[in-house]
Amino acid sequence: MGRKQEGGNPAVESVLSDLIKIQSVNPPGGETGVAEYLKRLFDRYQIPNEIIEPSPGRASFIACIGEGNKRLLYLSHTDVVPITEGWDSPPFSGELKDGFVHGRGAIDCKGLVAAEACAVIHLAQTLKLKGKLIFAATADEEVGGYLGAGFLAEKYPDKIRADFTINEGAEPLAMGSKTYHSLSVGEKGPAWMKLISKGISSHGSVPVMENNAVVKMASVINGLANYKPRVGLTSETQSLVQTFARLDGLSDKVSADNVDDVLRRLSDRVLVSYLSAVTRMTISPDVIHGGVKTNIVPDNCEAQIDIRILPGQNWEYVINELKEILGGVEVETMQYHAPSFSRSDNEYYRLIESTLKEFVGDVPILPSICTGATDSRYLREMGVPSYGIGVMTLNMDPAMSGSVHGKNEKIDIASLRLKTDFLASLAKKYLGN
Ligand SMILES: [Zn+2]
Repeated sequence: MGRKQEGGNPAVESVLSDLIKIQSVNPPGGETGVAEYLKRLFDRYQIPNEIIEPSPGRASFIACIGEGNKRLLYLSHTDVVPITEGWDSPPFSGELKDGFVHGRGAIDCKGLVAAEACAVIHLAQTLKLKGKLIFAATADEEVGGYLGAGFLAEKYPDKIRADFTINEGAEPLAMGSKTYHSLSVGEKGPAWMKLISKGISSHGSVPVMENNAVVKMASVINGLANYKPRVGLTSETQSLVQTFARLDGLSDKVSADNVDDVLRRLSDRVLVSYLSAVTRMTISPDVIHGGVKTNIVPDNCEAQIDIRILPGQNWEYVINELKEILGGVEVETMQYHAPSFSRSDNEYYRLIESTLKEFVGDVPILPSICTGATDSRYLREMGVPSYGIGVMTLNMDPAMSGSVHGKNEKIDIASLRLKTDFLASLAKKYLGN
């Protein structure tokens, strides 16, 4: 249990260290250990809370403080991705060293769990909120959230319904000597498909190309690789590209017609890949299996394609766009979620933005789109705007972002405290009067 700081509140870095030590790698999960830890922590401060466990070991945790009509949800997830090879120290040590907390989940997402928990505990000690601040640390996010935020949204929507949600988002982006913060307002939708081609097997010494399932699939894969998706801009992605074009000294006014021309001239290639992905549907053929033996013409070949679509697109759009390329193979849906999006021109966004500036200074804060999926989509599907934050100090170590889902994951204690203070301040502003 987190060491107590002066004034009786837990230190956020000790809470995070404790959370990292409770292994909750998903699959298989094991988030109940985290939920029970949070229960003991919140019980100690007499904060009403509950554990919801849809299946053994897969619990989510909810707590709530304050009374009134306004409602704000602090969302986070308690599962982590499996560890990769080559860590410098044990990945579940939760070690506090050199100003960092080390271990799997330090950033994604136990750092946010700890910061949100400590912000709630701090507010419960110091203020009578005139609205409800809900804390939900949910299971299963890393493999789709069906047993976590998805389960709550389906079975207990009223427990998490709020005016708006704060959830995980992208870390600040370092470009040149400057750091830019972003607020995630939306995410692309996965439209993952399995393709199956059929052929007729025979002896490989007398090949018949039109019967070869691998050859058929190869031409489909080539077609997908050469497909040029249409560029689609929202006002947010337009301003994102425009901002980075200006920073690189380009004077073009960015539009759907010249995005690719502008991207070609940007200097940071990693940034270009990201901007390219948030301005169009992307297609990545990532798995292929076919054939059994060198001298047998294969009668079966399967491929898995990672397709991500923009707001405004759906499964029918994908099938319609690709129907000529996919002719001759069977198509199965592996996973589909509609893209989700929250407005950046409302009072919630402006409140988050202005509060963030008080903590990180007058740096550009850009509304961004996630290329991957988070639990925010479940809230957005309920009609609750959801915003992703990745609050860090301006002099953050850029290696930290690269450690998410990678090796040597860590977060600096200064950023953790900043995140906690930001969260407490935001809730105080929205629910304090
Ligand atoms: Zn995450």
